[in-house]
Amino acid sequence: MENKKLRDLAELGEFGLIDVLTQDFQLKNKNSIFGIGDDAAEIRINEEESLLVSTDTLVEGIHFNLMYMPLKFLGYKAVAVNVSDICAMNGKAEQITVSIAVSSRFPVEALEELYEGIHAACEHYQIDLIGGDTTSSLSGLMISITAIGRVNKNSIAYRSGAKENDLIVVSGDLGASYLGLQVLEREKEVFKTNPNIQPKLDGYDYLVGRQLKPEARIDVVDQLSKAGVIPTSMIDISDGLASELMHIAKSSTCSVSIYSEKIPFDEKTSLTAIDFNLDPITCALNGGEDYELLFTISQNDFEKIKTNPNLSVIGHITSKDSGNLLIDKNGTAVNLKAQGWKHF
Ligand code: ADP
Ligand code: MG
Repeated sequence: MENKKLRDLAELGEFGLIDVLTQDFQLKNKNSIFGIGDDAAEIRINEEESLLVSTDTLVEGIHFNLMYMPLKFLGYKAVAVNVSDICAMNGKAEQITVSIAVSSRFPVEALEELYEGIHAACEHYQIDLIGGDTTSSLSGLMISITAIGRVNKNSIAYRSGAKENDLIVVSGDLGASYLGLQVLEREKEVFKTNPNIQPKLDGYDYLVGRQLKPEARIDVVDQLSKAGVIPTSMIDISDGLASELMHIAKSSTCSVSIYSEKIPFDEKTSLTAIDFNLDPITCALNGGEDYELLFTISQNDFEKIKTNPNLSVIGHITSKDSGNLLIDKNGTAVNLKAQGWKHF
């Protein structure tokens, strides 16, 4: 290592780093159907079914700030984001393990609060806490959750199955979580300069709620199943719509065209974006943490979903060389760029 120029993590980025670290690993066991590169790994358990396994880690100061993230919400969110990854495979989460690293600055009561949130999420999503690990950390709090789920092998949705002319669909509305974070950050700054001023969160319940207590869309997975629709590809929106669209395009060797007018927003998102001098479309594309589902369906399935108020068709899949496009209301197309979250 001494004579080689050492590479900077920031240069590679999160996905580049994962590629570099994992490139020499091949799957050896016949039941390991799919490893790295989707929302969850797939392990065949019998003729019909697969297990799904996904891990997500939340680190104090990177993914959450305890100044405005109550520990109970943090516990809930840590579970929800993992359940969301199982949903993104069209599966049902059934178990979790929870690992924490804590510094001595946290009293027992604080960790009990964290576990109250984990408990509430386990009740809400009907999942079992089956283990984990507890260790100390020098300063902050880290929580890492592994979710295990189940899916019928014929209903599994990978990122890689999108076909030309498929419709691109998104659940719920986008951009709210990012704006909720902006509201919380703004109030934090006010509080820092004058701790006597109460935070002004009135009227921002929806946005702040989307940031502090996101829900995994188990309801959407259920509705698709009842409607008899198996998405041709699916991913959850953790890093922002643009980044997730590009994951689907890359994995499916295709391109995407989406229409800015079709992106679903809550009214509060559009109004608050103006306050912050932000374009709601940018919030949806690059904000992240919406934990909605982004998926593609065959055009033949459109009739089965068109009356579902939770779902919006935002575009369609095109050939690989068409480029990933965002088309505005005048028909002008620009290339989609993914910023996503930059951890490094
Ligand atoms: P998601 O955003 O859905 O949680 P990630 O972007 O975190 O997914 O991860 C992408 C893929 O890379 C996943 O298959 C994940 O399991 C894998 N991965 C991430 N980090 C590592 C690592 N350090 N070692 C091995 N695999 C990893
Ligand atoms: Mg995911």
